[in-house]
Amino acid sequence: MIASRYATVSALLFVWLAIWAANCQPAQSPPSAKSQEAKTSYPAPDSFVYDLAYITGQFEPENHPLFVAIDPAYASRPGMYMHRDAYRAFQAMYEAARHDGINLRIVSATRNFRRQKEIWEAKWEGRTLVDEGVNLHLSVPDPLERARRILRFSSMPGTSRHHWGTDIDLNQLENGWFEKGEGRQVYEWLQQNAGAYGFGQPYTPKGERRPHGYEEEKWHWSWLPLASRLTRQAAEQITDEDIRGFAGDEAAKKLHIVHHYILGVDPSCR
Ligand SMILES: [Zn+2]
Repeated sequence: MIASRYATVSALLFVWLAIWAANCQPAQSPPSAKSQEAKTSYPAPDSFVYDLAYITGQFEPENHPLFVAIDPAYASRPGMYMHRDAYRAFQAMYEAARHDGINLRIVSATRNFRRQKEIWEAKWEGRTLVDEGVNLHLSVPDPLERARRILRFSSMPGTSRHHWGTDIDLNQLENGWFEKGEGRQVYEWLQQNAGAYGFGQPYTPKGERRPHGYEEEKWHWSWLPLASRLTRQAAEQITDEDIRGFAGDEAAKKLHIVHHYILGVDPSCR
């Protein structure tokens, strides 16, 4: 009786040891090249589906498989993200610029719907002043006019090119900075060279060539191999009625946001 109980305990101990050893095995052996590869590989850009949620910024870039964190060496602060292909193109452009004595610095990159809603509503409610000190909440009661004023330089949530990971703001958020001294050299370099790396300026001066949309932004550059495609897709898939979920969204339809703002880019960026 005692011998058979001893045998049962021994057998159970053996089974437990066998299970423990099996569970510990993978952690003790070095990961194979294949599992390493699986951890770092992302869906190929051509097979990834850029759906409406992506186009309207309904995701968190830090959790998105196509996004990478921007090295703070390229940026004014840590914690910014870009689409990995656009980032690779930016890195190549940055190195070429540096070789020519030009310093490019990213001051804003991906902003999702949630972040754009914070920016928009802070202007709508007067917590952020616009046009050098104007509180729109106090001085512009008409909702349509107030939206129009914010739209000089800021997008409605769901319609920003900054949702896509392809668009970056460089150096300074001020056209004047790009018109003299170092800023002028940066801008001239970008005009001559950015195209070779796939980047273009969507918000060129307003006029015959670009009659609608935001004001000129010399700091905003767009990685066109993906952004042009997403511009066309946004224009086909988003209607003005879809643009909602924030203070003042009722202005979207009256202001023809899709045609005048999403498509209100330089023709070279569509
Ligand atoms: Zn921008």
